Amino acid sequence: MVEYTGLAAQHKAVNLGQGFPDFPPPEYVTKALAEATNGKNTLLNQYTRGYGHPRLVNVIAEVFSKVHNRPINPMSEILVTIGAYQSLYCAISGHINPDDEVIIIEPFFDCYEPMVRFAGGKPVFVALKPPQSKAGKEMHSSDWLLDMKDLEAAFTPKTRMIILNTPNNPLGKVFTKKELSDIAEICIRKNILVVSDEVYEWLIFEPYQHVRIADLPGMWERTITVRSAGKTFSVTGWKLGWSIAPANLIRNCQVALQNVTYTSPTPIQEAVAVGLEIEKERMDNKDQCYFYTLPAMLVAKRDQMADMLIKTGLTPIIPEGGYFMLADYSKLKNLPSSIMMSTEGDEPKDSRFVKWMTAEKKLATIPVSAFYSKEHKHLAENYIRFCFSKNDQTLDATRKILDDWM
Ligand code: PMP
Ligand code: GLN
Repeated sequence: MVEYTGLAAQHKAVNLGQGFPDFPPPEYVTKALAEATNGKNTLLNQYTRGYGHPRLVNVIAEVFSKVHNRPINPMSEILVTIGAYQSLYCAISGHINPDDEVIIIEPFFDCYEPMVRFAGGKPVFVALKPPQSKAGKEMHSSDWLLDMKDLEAAFTPKTRMIILNTPNNPLGKVFTKKELSDIAEICIRKNILVVSDEVYEWLIFEPYQHVRIADLPGMWERTITVRSAGKTFSVTGWKLGWSIAPANLIRNCQVALQNVTYTSPTPIQEAVAVGLEIEKERMDNKDQCYFYTLPAMLVAKRDQMADMLIKTGLTPIIPEGGYFMLADYSKLKNLPSSIMMSTEGDEPKDSRFVKWMTAEKKLATIPVSAFYSKEHKHLAENYIRFCFSKNDQTLDATRKILDDWM
């Protein structure tokens, strides 16, 4: 990710690579941040409670008690962290000991693997099965299926945890209740912990529905759900996230956090608390609540993106959630043979294609092999990832590049 973000800047390319919205966040959160640093309560510029600013954990508990339909204790069942990244880090390093095995479903958000290795654990990969590519026609992320036999076979007596991500980055797959129930059944039978990365939980496109594995029978006690204010309020640069889990699991995450950063920035927590307090009151009104108006806006961008890709000869994979879209570029005509034929080194083909497209076409994306383990990178070699959470100007600039492609 770091490499491709640098490349986009170097070539001054239209950047649909790294995932971040380039439209403004809701004004009430940016105003709340200004007020937190400049307002009457100057102590908001100082450290706050290590495991989460009281105003923030209180409103997180209120919002997510409603979401999960169960009481959540703000002090013992929530941990606020620097981004969802740090929630993932604390959940993994707080529970994984050397030689423990952790199952990761591919494609996966790229930090899971190194975080498991930092903790001394061993990642074990299970790839979703892609469908056959249909040239020029759209495909859907729901066509990517988890083979339960593959999953079952990945468990050993050393397996301690499975990491799930729904909606999935990069694929945009929203796991169904049946898929999650099948995963839950194995986790209960084998006494496995689940880290469920749900940072895109609000970015669901109708008619799909987000299912939270923590809500399935027997799962609350073994699930740590990871969330992100960056995705919720379109403020990825604020880097604030949190985990929700039963107190015994949060305790292990707390131990990790207090020895890494101890606490997260107070003004950002205060501003996110204000945002959640506002949206909590609107949650029953889908026309007003940002949790629902944001995906309603994004779905139009998703469809625009798919249309542009099809016209250029790429095959998009229509996502059910999130803000990324994969596309199969392998049917494009007249691609340089240095990309398609080269057998030099072990750089995946999609990575060569992305570098070429960024430099020559000034359009930056991310190769999907970046979301696969070393041994499975070949499964992704025909795919690249586009972020469509972009303003009209960026999407128009993309359309122009794609229209002029040939
Ligand atoms: N998980 C997934 C699936 C993501 O796409 C991201 C986005 N970077 C994160 C976690 C990390 O979120 P944050 O920026 O809040 O650390
Ligand atoms: N989640 C974002 C993405 O997938 C950003 C992550 C990053 O830059 N490491 O693009």
